[in-house]
Amino acid sequence: MRSPIPDYLQEVLEDCRLADGGAVADYIPDLARANPDRIAIALTTPDGVSYCAGDADVAFSIQSISKPFAYGIALLDSGFDTVLGKIGVEPSGEAFNEISLEVGTGRPRNPMINAGAIATHSLMQGSNADERAERFRERMSLAANRELSFDESVFTSELDTAYRNLAIGYMLRTHGILESDPDDVVRGYIRQCALSVTTRDLSMMAATLANGGVQPVTGRRLSGDRAVRQVLSVMMTCGMYDAAGDWMTAVGIPAKSGVAGGIIGVLPGQVGIAVFSPRLDAHGNSTRGVKLFERLTDDMGLHLMEVPPVGRSVLRGHTMHGDAHLFGLQGSIRFAGAEAVVRQVADADISGDDVIFDVSRVHGVSDVARRMFLEAVRRLTLDDGKRVTLVDPDGIVHNPDAGDGVRPEVIAELAGFRPRS
Ligand code: GLU
Repeated sequence: MRSPIPDYLQEVLEDCRLADGGAVADYIPDLARANPDRIAIALTTPDGVSYCAGDADVAFSIQSISKPFAYGIALLDSGFDTVLGKIGVEPSGEAFNEISLEVGTGRPRNPMINAGAIATHSLMQGSNADERAERFRERMSLAANRELSFDESVFTSELDTAYRNLAIGYMLRTHGILESDPDDVVRGYIRQCALSVTTRDLSMMAATLANGGVQPVTGRRLSGDRAVRQVLSVMMTCGMYDAAGDWMTAVGIPAKSGVAGGIIGVLPGQVGIAVFSPRLDAHGNSTRGVKLFERLTDDMGLHLMEVPPVGRSVLRGHTMHGDAHLFGLQGSIRFAGAEAVVRQVADADISGDDVIFDVSRVHGVSDVARRMFLEAVRRLTLDDGKRVTLVDPDGIVHNPDAGDGVRPEVIAELAGFRPRS
């Protein structure tokens, strides 16, 4: 069978091609030369499969889409305390290049506006602009799973006209947010923005975030869970310039756009998405890019606030296995699923001595679910005098130590179960 996904993407692309409002950015002279008719879309799954349509292999400069990734690198290189001490996480509701800092502290409001991104750049490892930009290029190449390079023409073109970003840099230096030469930091930031990427690359980078910081193809961990959560949170609240509220309600996934016409979106655990089309709307977001995302959200139910209830489906059934009570569990168990299991067990009238939990069809257990489950095991054992057996061939319930000396017997298959009496 031919996969329906590429055909679907092509159809969406053709529909959104009709939206030709807006204009290409021209404040960076080189961007004004972009072909405004280009349009592309790419999706990459957490197991590394990419689906592309349109001009997905045409290169353009990453621009502001570099900001969330640089923020992740700064968290890695300088630590949370230093980064949060210098850059806030509040949406500013202002344009990306607004020259405004928090009253009192002089901190930029968030890392997605230029002031915050310039400060972020200075917190990546490296003693000068070239070293920090190189650090960024190397990390992004790992995320894209190919060697990326800078668009030297975009870089020099923006550097020649960077008066506004230099003004921001000097203000940050005045407040001590930048601790080194603002000319050098702004130069490095502009070089970072000039990294040349394709829509396919961006979807791979977005999928790395969707996959909790692990590159989907190579399996290499590029970022810790907490840093990914932090990056996605600021993307969600501050990623779409001054249209963050519109975006949250209409599309509802963490995203970041850039003035060259790219937008990435990350649906945690499910997919990394990238789109590209150079004409921008009044907020500075790609006109067709926004349309593409709106369409995908409507068709595919991507909005983060649209989540089906998961609790009930975790419990496959409560049956008898001989004289033992058998609870079969399945799927991915998080708080709501664990609550459903614990409730069913608490409400069940459990006769006999043996209780079996079959978790052989469970493929994930969150930390809170594991703790709730083991507490139920502890209570069944110590309060109710039951013997608990776990059918767990893959060790999905990691270290099943329920505390107070209680440890359920773990067996690989139900057939291996031997009743207590
Ligand atoms: N390099 C651009 C600037 O600082 C990035 C802007 C953007 O993509 O929003 O003006």
